[in-house]
Amino acid sequence: MYRTTHCNSLRKENIGQTVTLAGWINTRRDHGGVIFIDLRDREGLTQVVFRPEEHPQVSEASHGLRSEDVIQITGVVAARLSGSENPRLATGEIEVIASELKVLNKAEVPPFPLDDPKVNEDLRLEYRYLDLRTAPMQRNLKLRHRIVKATRDFLDEQGFMEIETPILSNPTPEGARDFLVPSRLTPGSFYALPQAPQQYKQLLQVAGLEKYFQIARCFRDEDLRADRQPEFTQIDVEASFVTDADIQTLIAGLLVRIFREAKGVEIPAPFPRMTYADAMNRFGSDKPDTRFDMELVDLGGIFRESQFKVFRSIVDGGGVIKAINAKGAASLLSKEQLKKWEEWVKTEFGAKGLAYIKWSAGGEWESPIVKFFSEPEKAALTERIGFAEGDVLFFGADSKWEAVCEVLGRVRLRCAELLGLFKANADKLNFLWVVDFPLLAFSPEDNHWVAVHHPFTRPKAEDVPLLEAGEYGKVRAVAYDVVLNGVELGGGSVRIHERELQSKMFDVLGVDAEAQQVKFGHLLRAFSFGAPPHGGVALGLDRLVMLITGAESIREVIAFPKNNRGVDLMTHSPVEVDFKQLREIYIQSTAKKG
Ligand code: ASP
Repeated sequence: MYRTTHCNSLRKENIGQTVTLAGWINTRRDHGGVIFIDLRDREGLTQVVFRPEEHPQVSEASHGLRSEDVIQITGVVAARLSGSENPRLATGEIEVIASELKVLNKAEVPPFPLDDPKVNEDLRLEYRYLDLRTAPMQRNLKLRHRIVKATRDFLDEQGFMEIETPILSNPTPEGARDFLVPSRLTPGSFYALPQAPQQYKQLLQVAGLEKYFQIARCFRDEDLRADRQPEFTQIDVEASFVTDADIQTLIAGLLVRIFREAKGVEIPAPFPRMTYADAMNRFGSDKPDTRFDMELVDLGGIFRESQFKVFRSIVDGGGVIKAINAKGAASLLSKEQLKKWEEWVKTEFGAKGLAYIKWSAGGEWESPIVKFFSEPEKAALTERIGFAEGDVLFFGADSKWEAVCEVLGRVRLRCAELLGLFKANADKLNFLWVVDFPLLAFSPEDNHWVAVHHPFTRPKAEDVPLLEAGEYGKVRAVAYDVVLNGVELGGGSVRIHERELQSKMFDVLGVDAEAQQVKFGHLLRAFSFGAPPHGGVALGLDRLVMLITGAESIREVIAFPKNNRGVDLMTHSPVEVDFKQLREIYIQSTAKKG
């Protein structure tokens, strides 16, 4: 037996007991020949003392101990000397007087101090097994486990079955590039790693399993932004004979349970619902952060008769003019900064500019456009949007409604950052459902319609005539996203379960009859054998854990993540492989060695 207890268990009540502990040396201090170590295991720390006068041999051996050596000690639990207790440590009232010491393994000097929070991330990733020894990383992984456990318990209680689906699978259109795996046994053919188990979970409904879930690994070959990983984990759910409201109730219940068990907070459910159109109109985002107002206000009415040609022509052409009022931002934004913001919206969103009015306390309106406004327009503006001294107004004006909303939505978030609104509202947990997303969007690059969610999403019953009439842009989907504080936690939809409708949807997406058979024949066929009405959802587990732990990146809540170039710095994957190995799978690399 390596130990009788762990390093976070001994208290005053245990004084006098003989115990054996095992773990790593967290710190070592030499106080005039008496060696103190903090022994660490997964559960915590215990102070161990080596006293030369009581156990001379063991004490002598303790002089050779170094940080991160793995040892086993046996000794008696004693009270710490009065005044040397450590109230910050659960075991802070006691120490163990070592009478036996066994070095289980020596450690080299670690490449970085494990308790230094400022160590460069590449180094941490290279020695991830050391990084994972640190208290914050252990805490994150424990919380992740709690969240997954709460998920499994809750869904099991609700009658859901955990079913695994293949990793070597078929391409599924979730909007990203597939990772491909060449088949040795079928030369020239490839598996795709699942971007999501979408088709399998639907096929499990056709199979009559009714309530499925999976803690599913998904793979998407995308350019990695700050918060993405090529492989990530989803809480994947699908059920039969359910409405959108049923799925939303289920997932709200799951989140209540997760937040209760992992964070100890009660979140109110049901969550409010907001349509996509409202979310865009009011917050300029399909994942609105509703913790603060600063809502977008429509000003088209004010400029209907305007002498300001730019606004007037937009209104005349059926375009949109909106604004937000950044209350109290005037003292925080200089002219130069406003110029920079304008550059930012131009380069990032292709906007033509960012019109503003700045009203410094005790000052005049400063603005490149205000000279074109009439007095009644100015008065209407002030009244409509509550513009006052100290504020900055930002305008969005364009022929395209979505473009105006998006730009102002991003400006709103930037203002919130500037005004400290995220910090001020850090304790709030604003959950909501965004519903009634558009089913289809026109992709100018591809020159055809694409599915906003995925091609299996159901159109709203009342919008099916629009689909039939070819008014694709107006069709809404029975799709929903769950949002927390401006972050999309996940989304899903009620699905198409009729063969004809699914086929029609593929037609609209430009997948012709032949391609439908090749790519989706299995699903279309399955739908002709009595597919039940069904729907589902998927939540991004990594992001959820990140939000609950308060970590700044999903890499902090994944045991072995890739860096932002998709590289595992510890194992160096991806690696080059021998040409013979490639030959076996009928592959020849065309990559140029650089
Ligand atoms: N398959 C979708 C996704 O991964 C989720 C769903 O529709 O259930 O985003």
